[in-house]
Amino acid sequence: MLQPSTFNNSLLEWYHSNKRDLPWRRTDDPYKIWLSEVMLQQTQVITVIPYFTKFITKYPTLKDLADADEQALLKDWEGLGYYNRIRNFHNAIKEVKEKYNGEVPDDPQDFFELKGVGPYIGGAVQSIAFNHLLAAVDGNVLRVMSRLNEDGRDMTKASVQKSVKHDIETIIPLEAGDFNQALMELGATICTPRTPKCIMCPVQEHCEAFKSSTVKNYPIKKKQTKKKEEFYNVYFIVNDEQEIFIYKQEGNLLKGMYELPKYDVDTNLENIEEELNVKLDDKRIYIGSDKHVFTHKIWYMESYLLHTNSKNEYFIPVNEVHELPMSMAMKKIFRKFTADEFHEL
Ligand code: SF4
Repeated sequence: MLQPSTFNNSLLEWYHSNKRDLPWRRTDDPYKIWLSEVMLQQTQVITVIPYFTKFITKYPTLKDLADADEQALLKDWEGLGYYNRIRNFHNAIKEVKEKYNGEVPDDPQDFFELKGVGPYIGGAVQSIAFNHLLAAVDGNVLRVMSRLNEDGRDMTKASVQKSVKHDIETIIPLEAGDFNQALMELGATICTPRTPKCIMCPVQEHCEAFKSSTVKNYPIKKKQTKKKEEFYNVYFIVNDEQEIFIYKQEGNLLKGMYELPKYDVDTNLENIEEELNVKLDDKRIYIGSDKHVFTHKIWYMESYLLHTNSKNEYFIPVNEVHELPMSMAMKKIFRKFTADEFHEL
């Protein structure tokens, strides 16, 4: 069991002299802190920095982001992935503007009711911006806690994460925001997954796994399930006016992002013509293959160029495509084919 006072003091002291200088640590604006935490979910610090800088420059206040067009936000978010994050954040920010006059609620209960605010975001923002005594438990914290306590439970289970959160909240000090960030920082820089630097660890004397030389055994990982593999043909359908068929995704994780027609490999062209309401030429030109790895699945994509004389509301000029928000999977395919090459059709 951790001894709160010495553990907390050692951790906080280390954090105050060793923390990385990150852009979101230079502000006390709850909106910017919230934005950074949304971006940091599932994404590495190094990737987030330029996006965070771009967003706070383009949308310097909560009201600026609330008034932004969703398509523009998706475009700015392009490449960061998990697009539900920005859609939910946008909705929550609009609600804060309407209901709380643009002030992020300094009341955990109100904050937790906003769209996309779960235990991690809620704990992180309410502790860092307002010092509420709430834990913020991410993957780094789970790893550190499992080693400190030689905790043999499966850290991927929601019930275990809840219990870890509860344990942290029994020892969390008044400097709750710094404490949470210190635990995360320790996990990110010292108590790393593969080669933890125990020799430099400020809380080594509190670490049960270190004492028993079992560090490498923690955290306990449940058997990894194999990613689902999906195989698609992706079509560049271009008409005589140098327009390309592209449509906006609805109702899935990539909602609002633009995508080329994508079909299971055994779907025949007649079915595609019928569904897209276009008449395709028989000639199909192979462009190349790509693979995109998501958290739970892998897409294998073969892309083809098709010509048509048809035109409908889904055709847009080729030179406007780059302005549309697109997932990384689609961008990979577009990279194979420059706008100039369409003119040679
Ligand atoms: Fe992690 Fe090693 Fe520190 Fe224990 S002593 S918390 S395993 S870095």
